Order: sequence, then C-alpha cells, then structure tokens
Amino acid sequence: MHGDHTLGLPGLIASMNLLGRKTSLNVFGPKELSEMVKKVWYLTDTHIDFEVNFIATNSKEIETIVEHESFTIKSFPTKHRIDTCGFRIDEKPGNFTLKHNVKKKHNLNNLEIQKLKRGEDLIRGEAILGNDLFCNPPKYIRSYSFAADTAFSPKVVDAVKGSTLLYHEATFESKDKKIATKTLHSTAQDAARVAAQADVCSLIIGHFSNRYRDLNNLLNEAKEVFVKSELAIEGNTYMIA
Ligand SMILES: [Zn+2]
Repeated sequence: MHGDHTLGLPGLIASMNLLGRKTSLNVFGPKELSEMVKKVWYLTDTHIDFEVNFIATNSKEIETIVEHESFTIKSFPTKHRIDTCGFRIDEKPGNFTLKHNVKKKHNLNNLEIQKLKRGEDLIRGEAILGNDLFCNPPKYIRSYSFAADTAFSPKVVDAVKGSTLLYHEATFESKDKKIATKTLHSTAQDAARVAAQADVCSLIIGHFSNRYRDLNNLLNEAKEVFVKSELAIEGNTYMIA
C-alpha cells in the first residue's frame, strides 16, 4: 500500500474512464487498496462508468491469480515493512506445429494431426514414427517476474526462479546498505544476487532512491554480481527474450 505504488492508481483509472473505456478491469493488490481508491473517487466526485473489480492478493503464500489460455499470473510474497506481493507471468507451452508438406506426404488424418500437435508420436500399425519427423516443437516459453518493494529474500529467489526477465528493485548503492537494511529495501548487489541465484536470463533494476543523480554506480554494482543487468528507465522498451 505504500504511496509510491498506489497513489497514482485512482487517477490512472479515472483517465481510462475519460478516454472512454467500457470493458471491465481487474485490479490485483493488497486488501486495503479498494477502500483507498474508492475513497479518493468519492472525495473527488469522480465517476467510473466501467466495472472495476478489486481482487485481494495473498501476502503469505504464492497464489495463482490469473489462469489465461496462453499465460498464468502468480503473486508471491516479498519481504517488506508491510504486506507486499511481487508478480510472475509465465507463458503456457503452445502446440507443436506441423512441418511443411507433411500432411500431404504422409496422408495424415485429422485425428493423427491432433495427436501430433499435442506432441505425441504417430502410430501406424506396428510402426511408431517420432513426433519430430512431422512437427516443430512449441515456441520458446517466456516468463517475466516483478519484485518490489523487497529486501533480499530467498523466498523471492524461489518465486522468480528461471525467469526470462526479472525486474527487481535496487533502491540503494552498497555504501547505503545500512539504510537498505533498516527500510527493508534492496541494494543493486542484492538485486543481482537474486538474479544470479534464481538463474534468470536477464535483470532490470529500478525503484532507485532519488538521492542518486547518476545511476551508473547502481548499474555497475549490479553488473559485478550479474552481468546481464540493465537500468529501468521510464519510457524505454525492454524485450522479454
Ligand atoms: Zn516502493
């Protein structure tokens, strides 16, 4: 519920309304979020014409919050002064796809095609023909994890394990480690340790304290521990690949 993560939300949703949004919106966050946002709308005489559903996250354990046909979203507890969750989005494996011309060449019927697309081998009489003769495997499965606010936590390491891309807060330089410990925030090196231990492909660090004019110290400290680190800069686009 800290203001740097929630105070923009009543205005953001009000802007969606002004832009003519009609479709409903699901908002996942701490249980207090709904009351805060609705109170701001009430006090500012703001009316939202579309349905907004607030869904409380679980700050005690990992929970699946969205099950979509092509991806899953989970929330996981982070380590902070108040109940806080991070999020992880995982693509689901897609179907195997038929190679060029195999349908005609092997005279595949619909049932056989369905089985092949599920990754099964083809059985014809006594012969078992390997799936790879006919199909290309599903595309590479990507995942993105977001962890803020949080101090270094082995539980976060577990929750973000193997992510393609990890965003982890890196509020402080190591010279300010004491403040990081006291406020339950991370240093850039903490973030990089999470990335290394969780064996992610790449790391974006963000949530920088505004005491630093030059962010390169933070980046360099992260890179000492985990080379594939980048700074999160507002407005930039980052590929999950
Ligand atoms: Zn924060």
